[in-house]
Amino acid sequence: MQKQKNRKIFNPGKWSGKPYNFFGDYLAAAYSCRVLKLPIDAGFSCPNRDGTLSFDGCVFCSEEGSASPTTGGLSSIADQMLNAKNTFRRSEKDTKYIAYFQAFTNTYAPPEKLKKLYDEAVNFPDITGLMIGTRPDCINREILEVISSYKKENFELWIELGLQSVHDKSLENLNRQHTFKQTDDALIMIAEYNIPVCVHVILGIPGETWAEMMETAETISKLPVAGVKLHHLHIIKDTPLAYIYEKEQFSLMSLKEYVSTVCDFIERLRPDILIHRLMGDRMEESLLQPKWGLHKGTVLQAIEDEFSRRCTFQGFLYTEGDEK
Ligand code: SF4
Repeated sequence: MQKQKNRKIFNPGKWSGKPYNFFGDYLAAAYSCRVLKLPIDAGFSCPNRDGTLSFDGCVFCSEEGSASPTTGGLSSIADQMLNAKNTFRRSEKDTKYIAYFQAFTNTYAPPEKLKKLYDEAVNFPDITGLMIGTRPDCINREILEVISSYKKENFELWIELGLQSVHDKSLENLNRQHTFKQTDDALIMIAEYNIPVCVHVILGIPGETWAEMMETAETISKLPVAGVKLHHLHIIKDTPLAYIYEKEQFSLMSLKEYVSTVCDFIERLRPDILIHRLMGDRMEESLLQPKWGLHKGTVLQAIEDEFSRRCTFQGFLYTEGDEK
């Protein structure tokens, strides 16, 4: 694996007290202040929605394309960022922010247009990072040149890739319209530019076994991946998945199953991978199932309790070797 230069690597438990390498704790330690994300909807579409690959989108994707409620209805990037900043209850003088291009596919435009949009975001006051969410099939060298131009010391530059699973049958079930090979290729190409990548993974995809989920953890640990966002499969109202669920009533993970599977997954994860997220997050009015997803604090505490009970931590079952 190509090492991410200038990145501090922490061992889980040594510096945050948590049994896993949590991104929020990494930020607090690296910047000695609060670092918050400001979500942006820059008006991108997605090849899986505009008919290039499909008109249907991924089955779990809502009309907002995973946008934050703070971005809705505001046209300028600066207005969205200001609005998001004002929603934080505490305002501290030494807070810094990460511009987070979250909604839809944020590299799905010509490089010149991307540069203009990213420039507008990084010029917002107190910005210390740029995060760009996209699909593995919407990355190329021209785009990576643009993203690379934002690299500097003490600045969090990340690409977020929707990987979801390393199993093509699961990607088909989710209607991702790309294969795992495409994600693998994108990761190798991004590593040449030394840009850290955070991959999104969904646990509990219908038809995926426990062993297959563990294979995802083991596979990404061998790839140039610097961060992971874990999500439980939840059903959002008015999505294709909601219609399938109403018809088929397939079973979803219980809270107990999810907590146990997350711990199993993290035990197999390379110890230096930063965990950006441990579960999906959704407002009550748009969440169909499972309802335990509304109690984030309870779920996070249950994960920590389960690690304490097992006396294990991130990487406990990871075996070094074979990294790309
Ligand atoms: S790739 Fe992203 S934006 Fe596009 S349909 Fe899937 S989840 Fe939605």
